[in-house]
Amino acid sequence: MNPATGQVFSLLARGSKEDVDAAVTSATQAFASWSRTGAEERSAILMRIADLIEKRKDEFARTESEDQGKPVHLAASMDISRAILNFRFFAQTILAHENESTSDAHTLNYVSRKPAGVAGLISPWNLPLYLLTWKIAPALACGNTVVAKPSEMTSMTADLLADVCVEAGLPAGVLNLVYGLGPEVGEAIVRHPEVPLISFTGGTATGRRILEASAEHFKKVSLELGGKNPNIIFADANLDKALAMTLRSSFLNQGEICLCGSRIYVERSVYPAFLEKFVAETERLTVGDPSDPKTFMGPLVSKAHWEKVRSYIDIAREEGGRIECGGTVPEMSGAFKNGFWLRPTVITNLKQNSRCVQEEIFGPVVTVQPFDTVDEVIHLANDVKYGLSATVWTESLSKAQKVAGELRVGTVWINTWLHRDLRMPFGGMKHSGIGREGGPHSIDFFTETTTVCVRT
Ligand code: NDP
Repeated sequence: MNPATGQVFSLLARGSKEDVDAAVTSATQAFASWSRTGAEERSAILMRIADLIEKRKDEFARTESEDQGKPVHLAASMDISRAILNFRFFAQTILAHENESTSDAHTLNYVSRKPAGVAGLISPWNLPLYLLTWKIAPALACGNTVVAKPSEMTSMTADLLADVCVEAGLPAGVLNLVYGLGPEVGEAIVRHPEVPLISFTGGTATGRRILEASAEHFKKVSLELGGKNPNIIFADANLDKALAMTLRSSFLNQGEICLCGSRIYVERSVYPAFLEKFVAETERLTVGDPSDPKTFMGPLVSKAHWEKVRSYIDIAREEGGRIECGGTVPEMSGAFKNGFWLRPTVITNLKQNSRCVQEEIFGPVVTVQPFDTVDEVIHLANDVKYGLSATVWTESLSKAQKVAGELRVGTVWINTWLHRDLRMPFGGMKHSGIGREGGPHSIDFFTETTTVCVRT
């Protein structure tokens, strides 16, 4: 369904357990030769995949937008660019990777590294190709074969990727995509005894279910789950920069990014002035036609998600929150009349224990709260079940580093947001996930090692 129009634009196969079985058989057969293919050849194929996506970048971006709702320009600059980079990055990383060795007078120890086997990869709808390729690229680079399930809401760019992989010369059976529903296709992948490794990005409740289901076969599991990330703004920050980036970290991609800073904490002395400007700038954000280069926000991904996000605005009202702006569905005309639109929403006057402060909403809805001291804001920031990321705005290096050191999150951005060096570990703490991926951490996850000790 195109979320901008509410109209079905394509049908998708509803895969079954039998399709997953067939895909695993195909991946297992292909593993015999792909796992023995040299790293240079695997790397060259990944590079060709990246080049071919780049050649069809406009088509990929339009398709991602039509399927997900995000503006086409954002799909091009963020999603598809990153998918290309994922393939190039892991094509290079695998060639540069070194294994450990130690030696002394009597022994030589070295690590023998092998691909894990058939990798089961499950991804969500918010950054469809971006997150799917963040898993596929390292899995293939390491010599695994893959059975992957994109979100049933956003499988179209995965389908284009399949074409590209064939054209790039990826051997048959190395990458298998099975479309369909999580409890059917996803669960069958997770429970399959011949899939020793699962990399999952999605919601925390699904992550828990996957962890339980994968326990039967002691699978290697990486879980990148939900977030409720604090965005901490101290009075000594460059407030113009903090404001400009806070608009993005609150509402980019309709707020449907696990790393969005949905809890904004502002030091009390600058709180009134910051809030006034933030609300004024939020009201100026354009919501509308995803193909218009001037559009900042498209519709939410689906009717069900739209209703869920709007229900949190009602909850905020019940909890005594003040809706400073947004909270309403904009009047749209023509083809966009039945789309899943929502104005970006800023809520204040909520207590720390309110549901809108504690629970992941995953839409264009943020809460803003004042704070007085460094210790207080560290406590508030840590006082949720999630631990994915945080942003800190201050011109004081020592304060920034103290806060960064005490936050229980996987990533802290200081005076920036969403900048990623793909070599760095990425993942969450607490209910935001288990494990780290990125650069050498992905290589570790997608391989098994044997330590070989030789008496010399
Ligand atoms: P879901 O957990 O609902 O779905 C994620 C994927 O899992 C989908 O492909 C889904 O299938 C599948 N799935 C659902 N149930 C099962 C099951 N029982 N077994 C196996 N697979 C299953 O998440 P959303 O798609 O709603 O994505 C939003 C969530 O993802 C948010 O919580 C967000 O924070 C999180 N996320 C985390 C990131 C991180 O890096 N930490 C990054 C991006 C998002 P189906 O097609 O049926 O939906």
